[in-house]
Amino acid sequence: MSVQVTLGEGGTPLLHAPRLSERFGVDLWLKWEGANPTGSFKDRGMAVAVTRAVEDGAHTLVCASTGNTAASCAAYAARAGLRAVIVVAKGAAAGPKLLQVQAVGGEIVEVDGSFSDAFAHAEDLGSRAGHAIVNSTNPHRIEGQKTAAFEILERLGGPPDVLTLPYGGGGNTRAYALGFGDRLPRFHPVQVADRAHTVASAIRIVEPVHAAEVEDVVRRSGGSVVTVDDDAIVAARNLLGREEGLFCEPASAAGIAALDRSARPGERVVCVVTGHGLKDPA
Ligand SMILES: *Cc1c(COP(=O)(O)O)cnc(C)c1O
Repeated sequence: MSVQVTLGEGGTPLLHAPRLSERFGVDLWLKWEGANPTGSFKDRGMAVAVTRAVEDGAHTLVCASTGNTAASCAAYAARAGLRAVIVVAKGAAAGPKLLQVQAVGGEIVEVDGSFSDAFAHAEDLGSRAGHAIVNSTNPHRIEGQKTAAFEILERLGGPPDVLTLPYGGGGNTRAYALGFGDRLPRFHPVQVADRAHTVASAIRIVEPVHAAEVEDVVRRSGGSVVTVDDDAIVAARNLLGREEGLFCEPASAAGIAALDRSARPGERVVCVVTGHGLKDPA
C-alpha cells in the first residue's frame, strides 16, 4: 500500500482577464499556478515524483534548481520524512526561494558555474543508492504537471486556441502537451533572448534539457517559440499586477509579454502564470 504525498497541490484558479482581454483584443484566461502550496506549478509534479520515490525506498531527494524546484522538493521531502539536497548555481536562485528550502529543513549545496553545472552535480549525487533525482527529467514530474491541462479542458469545455507559457528547461511545455493529448492548442512557449542573464531567474537556463520535445510540440501544434527581452518581461509583470491584481514573479509574466506576437484577434488564449511574485520580488 503506497501513501500519496500531498500538500494540496493543483486545482488552481483559471481566471478570466477582462481588462487584458480588451487591451489585447483576445479572450484571455490566466492559469494561476502561484496558488499552489509552495507558490509554483512545480508542486504538481513533485507530489507524484516524491510519492514514487517513497515507493522505491529512497531516503534522499536530489535536485538542481533555479529556485522553485528547490522550494517544492524540500517541502515534499519534509512532508514524506525524507532528506532533500538542493544544488544551485551560486547566486542564481532568488533569496525567498532559498528561505523556503531552509524553512522546511532542506540542505543547499552551491556550485560555481551555471545551471548546467548544478544539474551535472545533482545527477552525480542522485545516482547513489537510496537517492532519487526529482528534476523535470524525472518522468513522474511531467505526469503530475500535465494535470493543469486537464483542469483547463474541464473548465473551458475544450482546448483554447492558444496556450502561452514561460520556457525554461521546457518540462512544463512538454507536460501541457501530454495533458492536452490529441487536442493541442497552438503552443507559444516564451523564452528570454539573454537566457544566461535574464531578470527572470526561474528561466535562467542556457541549455533547455527538453528542447527537442518543445520543438516537436510547437511544430505539431502550429505554434512557435517567441523570444522577448527583459524590459518586456518587467512591463508584463507590472501590467498583470495593475490590470488584473495578480502579483507573479518575472518569469511567470513571459506569456503576457509575448501576447501581441502569439495570439490573433478574438482568439481564446490561456496564459500560464507559473509562480507567485513574493518568490522573486527584486
Ligand atoms: C520552472 C519554472 C518555469 C520554467 O518551466 P520549465 O518547465 O523549466 O520550462 C517558469 N516559471 C516558473 C515560475 C518556474 O518555476
